[in-house]
Amino acid sequence: MNQHIKHIVIVGGGAAGWITAGRIAARHARDSGITVTLVESPTIGPIGVGEGTWPTMRSTLMKMGISETDFMRECEATFKQGAKFARWVDGTADDFYYHPLMLPQGFGQLDLVPYWQSACAGRSFSDTVCLQEQVCEHGLAPKMITTPEYASVANYAYHLDAGKFVGFLTRHCTTKLGVTHIQGDVTAVNSAPNGDIAAIVTAQQGEIAGDLFIDCTGFNSLLLGKHLGVPFVDRGDVLFIDKAIAAQVPYEREDAPIASHTISTGQAAGWIWDIGLVTRRGIGYVYSSRHTSDEQAEAALRAYIRPAGKSVGTRSIPIRSGHRQLFWKNNCVAVGLAAGFLEPLEASALVLVELSADMLAEQLPATRDTMDIVARRFNDTFLYRWDRIIDFLKLHYILSKRTDNAFWTDNRAPETIPDSLKDLMRLWRHRPPGNCDFTSNNEVFPAASYQYVLYGMGFRTDPEFLRPSASEQRAAQEHLAQNSAAARKALKMLPAHRELIAKIHAYGLPAV
Ligand SMILES: Cc1cc2nc3c(=O)[nH]c(=O)nc-3n(C[C@H](O)[C@H](O)[C@H](O)COP(=O)(O)OP(=O)(O)OC[C@H]3O[C@@H](n4cnc5c(N)ncnc54)[C@H](O)[C@@H]3O)c2cc1C
Repeated sequence: MNQHIKHIVIVGGGAAGWITAGRIAARHARDSGITVTLVESPTIGPIGVGEGTWPTMRSTLMKMGISETDFMRECEATFKQGAKFARWVDGTADDFYYHPLMLPQGFGQLDLVPYWQSACAGRSFSDTVCLQEQVCEHGLAPKMITTPEYASVANYAYHLDAGKFVGFLTRHCTTKLGVTHIQGDVTAVNSAPNGDIAAIVTAQQGEIAGDLFIDCTGFNSLLLGKHLGVPFVDRGDVLFIDKAIAAQVPYEREDAPIASHTISTGQAAGWIWDIGLVTRRGIGYVYSSRHTSDEQAEAALRAYIRPAGKSVGTRSIPIRSGHRQLFWKNNCVAVGLAAGFLEPLEASALVLVELSADMLAEQLPATRDTMDIVARRFNDTFLYRWDRIIDFLKLHYILSKRTDNAFWTDNRAPETIPDSLKDLMRLWRHRPPGNCDFTSNNEVFPAASYQYVLYGMGFRTDPEFLRPSASEQRAAQEHLAQNSAAARKALKMLPAHRELIAKIHAYGLPAV
């Protein structure tokens, strides 16, 4: 049992496989004897969707030694500064709110909610406390051509071409980080007497042995789900989305502005994502097949894409909301779609891949007899994270006032709301969301994200319990004045998003 963990075998060459391979190889490149081998099927391609990310992607890329300029040039990448939720509250044409990626001004020192609620009634919460809504509405970038790689003026993540991203990571990991790449269809798994995986068997390359196996086989969940039999926990009772129809839509003009936020527009039975890349937009409708038909969904997507909607090709993808009961069993850990999936409303899938890869890279067990300790921690950490993400996604639905389809009213049925979220909603009647509500020191969605969604959707904390003192009011006024000044400066200083992308392609960003 005291065998050293030297040979890591990753099965699956989608974004999950390559991010995990890259993070582990970059972290352990100098440790003698650790090898990373990635095996992928030459016949089953990666899923090819997944274009919205979270700001963690900046540090993930940096830790793999990737140049931001190269990444942006080769992956059609653009900047993402948050999400604009349109038609989620009452479904009317001018109904929208923002979940920006910057924290509210002074967050952590002073909570601006009490002051905003009492003195700024009628003004959008995110626009009052954060400059980023205006930056997005003006189509501006979050940095300048003189801002070094990965540094920001306004916090940002990326939008990227999923297919090009996988190709880029493959080249980087194999040429710069020493990852061995094997093309092979896994057809069988050989077990050790203790139930561990001893080797995978591929049709083309025969047996491949390893000490730790990472299952990145997408919805197949070949090693953890099929071979080790870890059950799938279906969360379709809370999150109803079970289908996607996706399209790639070229811009009408080469110089069309590029949105620097994801636009999520509420529909009869789900919502449409709209992501601006350099030469095209990625647009898709995720919907509940219990509440609409495939034909109606396709018609809604084409109506949204108009005028290109008639001719554009579409692709349908089934979705199962939920996750595995455990993510690490024996010497096998699942990352990415093999671990589970929830609707892409807040781009939580790739961030979970990054967090999994980070924990694997940083806490890689040195020996088999310490592996079970790391596995327990990993399972506890990620079960907590999946539950928090489910609560956070559901929060987007429960405050909607839409009644145009049972999709919206069913989403508000109390039996579909997790108890943990119901408890938080009761607490937030009396005080705003704060860091004390969450126990992890590394939350996927911080309390500020809950504030943006809650108050953006029209929720109000009982003013009876929210009386800011005179000194708190003065401090809040100062913070809001600072925010307004910073917003004015940002609007003058920041370039148009497309203009910055063109400059990055032409000249590059200053290296870190
Ligand atoms: C509609 C939709 C929209 C999404 N939008 C977002 C988003 O905006 N943001 C976000 O963060 N995420 C999003 N996601 C999720 C995102 O696409 C995935 O998390 C990401 O692409 C990682 O996928 P993966 O690598 O786990 O799986 P895949 O890309 O499916 O890769 C699976 C790999 O396993 C290999 N494989 C399978 N079986 C075998 C076998 N028998 N032998 C050998 N190899 C095998 C395949 O060859 C492939 O390389 C979205 C997902 C969907 C469905």
